Amino acid sequence: MQLIYEKSVPGRRAVRTVASDVDTEGRIKSSLLRDTPAELPELSELDVVRHFTRLSQRNFGLDSAFYPLGSCTMKYNPKFTERVAHYPGFAYLHPLLPQLPGGEMLVQGALAVLYQMDRLLSEICGMAAFTMQPLAGSHGELTGVMLMAAYHRDKGNHKTTILIPDSAHGTNPASAAIAGYKVQTIPSKDGIMDVEALHAALNDEVAGIMLTSPNTLGLFNPQIKELTDLIHSVDGLAYYDGANLNAVVGKCRPGDMGFDIVHVNLHKTFATPHGSGGPGAGPVGVVEKLRDYLPTSVVHEGPDGSLSLDYDRPKSIGYVAPFYGNFGIVLRAYAYILRLGKEGLIRVSENAVLNANYIMRKLQPYYHLPYDRVCKHECVFSAERQARKGVNAMMIAKALLDRGFHAPTVYFPLIVPEAMMIEPTETESKETLDDFIDAMIEIAELAESDPEALKGSPKTTVVSHLDEVRAARQPDLAFLTDTE
Ligand SMILES: *Cc1c(COP(=O)(O)O)cnc(C)c1O
Repeated sequence: MQLIYEKSVPGRRAVRTVASDVDTEGRIKSSLLRDTPAELPELSELDVVRHFTRLSQRNFGLDSAFYPLGSCTMKYNPKFTERVAHYPGFAYLHPLLPQLPGGEMLVQGALAVLYQMDRLLSEICGMAAFTMQPLAGSHGELTGVMLMAAYHRDKGNHKTTILIPDSAHGTNPASAAIAGYKVQTIPSKDGIMDVEALHAALNDEVAGIMLTSPNTLGLFNPQIKELTDLIHSVDGLAYYDGANLNAVVGKCRPGDMGFDIVHVNLHKTFATPHGSGGPGAGPVGVVEKLRDYLPTSVVHEGPDGSLSLDYDRPKSIGYVAPFYGNFGIVLRAYAYILRLGKEGLIRVSENAVLNANYIMRKLQPYYHLPYDRVCKHECVFSAERQARKGVNAMMIAKALLDRGFHAPTVYFPLIVPEAMMIEPTETESKETLDDFIDAMIEIAELAESDPEALKGSPKTTVVSHLDEVRAARQPDLAFLTDTE
């Protein structure tokens, strides 16, 4: 496929602007002007439409097929939320408007969205207040660890270490390390963190713990309150990685489990688009004793009910992102929460858990299930049995691509060898789950009867079987060797 620059024809245009009748000569400082014209591809509107439509067709997206990528909660993004985000009153706002004299009165609707999302997420998670600023879950984690640091600094605590279970998502230790903490890994017992192991690691240097429950094995920790109580006994703080909230939303709340800080991935639980690395949103909630450290600004409600932005917050950790976060994403999640309501959110988690258990029990006869108990929103198999026949988890993932499904997460969590982590979400129909189960069974049977047939997949995708080492060392990001 040609690059858009290669399709350029000098003089071809999609839009022709009328010549300006304003004399601009000398009005723009020469330091701000280019010496040479910008190199832009010259194309007709139809050329551009076809180019990007073809690119989109080469992509594998949720709108095309099932995407059971464990821990990522790839649920359907309902289109009514797009319509709300495109209302001109929201879409055409300028982010500096509230900072102009009187400007806040022109953005009361936008401020109300931020304020009400703070109230809704606080209620859903059992927290006192939320910031909408962080731009992703991992960014929320970093914000959360910075809040921990601000709390300990303010109290004069000397703390050096953050405890993290061995099943954690890689972003947890990364966030703790970037914020300047030492990371100590706590081993799991029967797939979950146990009280004894935490006891052994606990001392006055512990700033806090980062946990998710259910964890990345999809298992809920029944001792969770004991664990958070232990952390509080050394004035540590408990951080809830809310990426797995889809398993419990509406059913139980991190605040009631004893957590002090939580991030929520709006692009997971609240159905906003993931969009290849952004824009996402990772709002962070805190309990009352951490409220003053939240990033600037926060939306404040005056006695007359009018909303304004409060920048006078001396203990705040400051800005973690420009302006107010990914406002358009917060708005979509707001529309989603209001549309579903309390009853709807409870059904989200119930059906997400039901779908995961359905897949787990249907595939259990064919794949090794290392932790055989009721799972939450995702189930984790091991391809050990198939690997002994020469078919590892990576090959199963690629064989699924040929059968029209996105692969599950593989080789994570790290504590399961040949891991395959399947998260169906609540938005898939039983027919889709059954088709996926049939494909997984067919692959398991081929691994027994004819493992050779699974080699060389994928064959039907736009880019077929890749040399994994070369793809990592010499990535061909622009499809330059693709001759089509
Ligand atoms: C997705 C995920 C994260 C990181 O969230 P991003 O929005 O991708 O940065 C953290 N922890 C867990 C368990 C996750 O699944």
